[in-house]
Amino acid sequence: MTSRALVLALLVATAACGGDAPGAARPANLLLLSVDTLRQDRCSAYGHDRPTTPRLARLAAEGLRFDDAFAPTSTTGPSHASLFTGLFPVAHRVVRNGLVLDERHRTLAESLRDAGWRTAGIASSFVLEERFGYAQGFDVWQDEFSVSGSSMRLAEWHGEETDGGFDRRATATAKRAVRWLETHGDDGPWFLFAHWFDPHNPYDPPPAHAVRFPPRGAGVVPEAVARYEAEIAYTDEQIGVVLDALDRLGLAEDTLVLLVADHGEELMDHGHMEHGVHIYDETVRVPMIARWPGRLPAGVVVSGPVELADVPPTVRGLLGVAEVGDGDGTGDAPDVQGRDLSAAWRAGAALDPDHAVLLHRRHYEPRTEGTIAVAGEGFGLRVGGWKLVVAEEEGRRELYDLAADPGETVDLSAREPERAARLARRLADLLAERARGGDAEDTVDEDGLRRLEALGYTK
Ligand SMILES: [Zn+2]
Repeated sequence: MTSRALVLALLVATAACGGDAPGAARPANLLLLSVDTLRQDRCSAYGHDRPTTPRLARLAAEGLRFDDAFAPTSTTGPSHASLFTGLFPVAHRVVRNGLVLDERHRTLAESLRDAGWRTAGIASSFVLEERFGYAQGFDVWQDEFSVSGSSMRLAEWHGEETDGGFDRRATATAKRAVRWLETHGDDGPWFLFAHWFDPHNPYDPPPAHAVRFPPRGAGVVPEAVARYEAEIAYTDEQIGVVLDALDRLGLAEDTLVLLVADHGEELMDHGHMEHGVHIYDETVRVPMIARWPGRLPAGVVVSGPVELADVPPTVRGLLGVAEVGDGDGTGDAPDVQGRDLSAAWRAGAALDPDHAVLLHRRHYEPRTEGTIAVAGEGFGLRVGGWKLVVAEEEGRRELYDLAADPGETVDLSAREPERAARLARRLADLLAERARGGDAEDTVDEDGLRRLEALGYTK
């Protein structure tokens, strides 16, 4: 018996003894789909009035649709680091793109691989290249972009040489995913991660999709938004190709499908077109849909905050994989910070409405992005119908009443200084707790600690 088979046999025996999870004796597969730059309210699966995501709508009808799902940041690398580790950016310290996710962090792929799952990942942008640490735990990580990309061409990015391409179109991602499922689908359990990059700028949809989304109004912004929506529709179609393959191969019943996005897109709501510079809701509220026939309820809309960092512990809970160790044997990795929501997901129950969502604005050297001046890191706290946004180096402290002003247009920090101060204290406490991550100074580099101290964020 191979070690992989032995681990599986032990796992199956353990699960069978557990008794209360029907069907848990047969380990299930995980298909994790991460769509880059997918703003929740631009998905028809979430009520958008143009048919951008019919396949996601069908997936939601067959599973759970989470309405209050949040990315921890509006930046690709840091968000994926949280999705993979269950840690917040102040703990994993990937606080901008181009930094390396430290090997000591324990990823979802590592825990599934060690429990006997075959693992494979398809990255569709150079941002998630293996050299940045995202391939940890994957037997195979596909990150070659020289031939299959969009109009984006960069020879160099964050000081790193590319292979000439920067990204992969959805058609190519779908082909790779389907080929992998055809080859390994029957050899489960497996974990396949597929990243989709097309909604990210540049917005250059295939012509067949572009014609279906004519601009609503004249001008550069309506034209760009229309192309963005066409890119979403193209991605949705290609995700459908993969879901069809699951059906065709008879794998759908034994596969937990989880679809998320790493962040949204601003589309000029707060003076910027893309993402990264702000953490207003249009850039951090993301779609999240989970389908697992017979194991998760179908057609249920779940309210209450859920975060990308909740994904690793929740998925481990659903698949019956106990987490042990921290990956590298040194015992120095921080404890997972996301919540195991598997019981609530199985019940299709609403999530704790008072859960505080911690947000992180990526680090910038002082500069101007578009027309927005950015400097250092920023943070946000979203709790009890209110949202505080602070970026001390930019002199930004804003307070929004989300119930009365969901678009975050009227800053109430001057009118409600006591509430702002109360939330700032709570944010500081939460940041300090998450920065330490049960692992004290090691989690945050010295420079990071100094910055947090300067902001009054450590005690
Ligand atoms: Zn992204």
